[in-house]
Amino acid sequence: MVFDAIIGQERPARFLTQMLEKRSIPTALLFTGVDGIGRQRTAITLGMALNCPNPVGVSACGKCASCHKIISGSHPDMVTVEPDGVFIKINQVRDISRQLRFAPLEGGWRIMIINDAQAMNLEASNAMLKILEEPPKHTIFILTASQTTDLLPTIVSRCQQIAFRPIPHEKVAQLLIEDRGLDRQTARTLAITTKGSLGKALSMDVEKWKAWRSSLVEQISTLSGETIQPLFAFAETLSGAKDRLADALEMIMMWFRDVLMFKVTPDRIINEDFEAKLRLASQRESVSSLLEKVEAVHSAQKALSKNANARLTIEVMLLHLRRGDGRN
Ligand SMILES: [Zn+2]
Repeated sequence: MVFDAIIGQERPARFLTQMLEKRSIPTALLFTGVDGIGRQRTAITLGMALNCPNPVGVSACGKCASCHKIISGSHPDMVTVEPDGVFIKINQVRDISRQLRFAPLEGGWRIMIINDAQAMNLEASNAMLKILEEPPKHTIFILTASQTTDLLPTIVSRCQQIAFRPIPHEKVAQLLIEDRGLDRQTARTLAITTKGSLGKALSMDVEKWKAWRSSLVEQISTLSGETIQPLFAFAETLSGAKDRLADALEMIMMWFRDVLMFKVTPDRIINEDFEAKLRLASQRESVSSLLEKVEAVHSAQKALSKNANARLTIEVMLLHLRRGDGRN
């Protein structure tokens, strides 16, 4: 198992390979980036490389007992800590402390993966910091977070940061075409909507996603209805599907960007399969009205990231998206 097998992460791969070649292993690594771009697989590959008794160069053999245990998730020294609910709590960090009193069980390296480290509450963060200040031997901590600013600066300063970039859309689209047999248009739109997260794109039920997207476009492109009732009903549906809300807003944002784009460079739109609807919308709306709508979606995204009331935020946004319609 070599790092090169992790798609689209050449720089982290190069860095970790050099680190292994020099045998200079930092106590703590911080893998930043969005979900689904290979951070987990990289942590596992690193654990394998460090523990494999028959490495090929600096890469794990993938065949020995140690490699098999890690691949199957049963290696006792590969420990993963995840948020328990919303937070990683102090008890979970105390658990880590307790485990660290003992040497790695299989005599190699212990890899402690702290997923979504930003979910550590203050108490847990401080306890974690204490551990990182007096690191035990033969243990590597791998913290994952979307960005360094989500963590206490004192924790970040103890870690070697490795930034994982979103995978280029073209690459994700190509893999979706090859692996999933998707047509080019669907693959491209899915790649753009999932923002370079290959894991997310691959885990999507494509037929369901297409139906969901069509219905969203239908509702958003006909939002100029005269009665306000359908708008509130739409707000209720959107805000009720919490796990899809962020995706829905991204899709709505992409829609209005496309309507705007259609006025200037129609060959650069993303939602090519809705070209007729886009043409109509772009003829109906002025640039300034469209810019206001993009801003309204952006404000809603910002508000929701700060845990604003979802229903209210969406209602306000939809009212803005409706207003200004019909101007030229
Ligand atoms: Zn091996």
